[in-house]
Amino acid sequence: MPDVYNWQLGRKMSYPFAASPAQWQFAFVFNTNRCINCQTCTMACRSTWTFSKGQENIWWNNVETKPFGGYPQNWDARLLGLLEDHNPGGQVWDASAPRTPAAPYGRFDGHTIFEAAAGYAGPDGPKAALGYLPTPAEWTSPNIYEDHARPEGANATAARMNAALPEHKVWFFYLARLCNHCTYPGCLAACPRQAVYKRPEDGIVLIDQSRCHGYQKCVEACPYKKAFFRPNTGTSEKCVGCYPRIEGKDPELSPNGEPCETRCMTSCVGKIRLQGLVRVGDDGAWVHDPHNPIYYLVRERKIALPLYPQFGTEPNGYYIPPRWVPRPYLMQMFGPGVESAIEQYSCPDRELLAVLQLFRTTQQIIFRYEIIPGPKIAEIEVSMPSGGTRTQVIYNDTVIGYNKFDREAVRITIEEPVFERPAAHANSI
Ligand code: SF4
Ligand code: SF4
Repeated sequence: MPDVYNWQLGRKMSYPFAASPAQWQFAFVFNTNRCINCQTCTMACRSTWTFSKGQENIWWNNVETKPFGGYPQNWDARLLGLLEDHNPGGQVWDASAPRTPAAPYGRFDGHTIFEAAAGYAGPDGPKAALGYLPTPAEWTSPNIYEDHARPEGANATAARMNAALPEHKVWFFYLARLCNHCTYPGCLAACPRQAVYKRPEDGIVLIDQSRCHGYQKCVEACPYKKAFFRPNTGTSEKCVGCYPRIEGKDPELSPNGEPCETRCMTSCVGKIRLQGLVRVGDDGAWVHDPHNPIYYLVRERKIALPLYPQFGTEPNGYYIPPRWVPRPYLMQMFGPGVESAIEQYSCPDRELLAVLQLFRTTQQIIFRYEIIPGPKIAEIEVSMPSGGTRTQVIYNDTVIGYNKFDREAVRITIEEPVFERPAAHANSI
């Protein structure tokens, strides 16, 4: 197995597939603090790509209520359990490992899904990645336990008491998910037909339908369970990253060929989503580009964290973690960067606050941002999660986002402008 460098793990790892890195990588940041679970993203994707016969249980985008919801049910707990059984007590991060730009979260000392499958000799032959095939029942009910802080019926009386104000003793949050277009995809490594491929121009992972024979090895090996089997075609399908929009081929949105965000991103009501493309070097690492908003949030500020980095696929979906959720749960889900990310998000400095305004302000993909300083408008005391207070100074800066051709795509100020309508109509207020 060739060795590759996985920066999310802070070390090299074995990956059973040799390929040249993509030149650009599809990536996105979701702010979980803002998701309202409206499922608009889910239906935008559904109505574009998976509304046909045979796709009834195929949801490329879904939003699940954590900790109990999941699509398919218990997908993450199941895989964490498989890895723990394989390496009891060993699935840990080395907290003392130095944090460097190449290893920003320290080092993961456990086994990835690829390393856990090395030497596997079961009745079903060798495996490229540790995984499992969900049952048909687990693919139903994509909203199971929606808005539930604990399973219904487990202890209904206690659940009601715990939800009483002023203090919430139970918690939940919404986790929006789609294919992470991983740098080292489990689905790709596992396909015996080499039907799964990663596009060099944008890192989007696709399944060639003419090569797929429906063996479902991708479904088994994707740790995020974002490859799906479609019974009436006998093939597997997955998110295509709305690639015509990424290519700037939508005649309505991209008259000049500007890359646009996907359907799920552009429809987001809660403004939790920012999608982008980051440049990748010949060595497979992201090219230093601190004014690309995705690069800035993920690599410069480390405020947006990968989902279950310990699986080892180097997913390209990143999440600003929810502030109210117990830290051990979040650290299992997003790795050791959680405390720092939440601390920064609770009291963003001037530049971070400006970049956070860019979420869902344009359908075009922003390749570069610029900040024009404005006057000071407020000073507020913020209670920090780690204790104590901090003073946040807010300036009415202007943030400009530029598209692929370095043309201005959006201009927005920190303080939302107020417009007063002239009293020209009977219902004017
Ligand atoms: S999330 Fe799953 S389906 Fe998507 S690229 Fe990664 S391994 Fe493949
Ligand atoms: S559209 Fe946005 S706010 Fe609504 S559920 Fe999807 S991610 Fe959450």
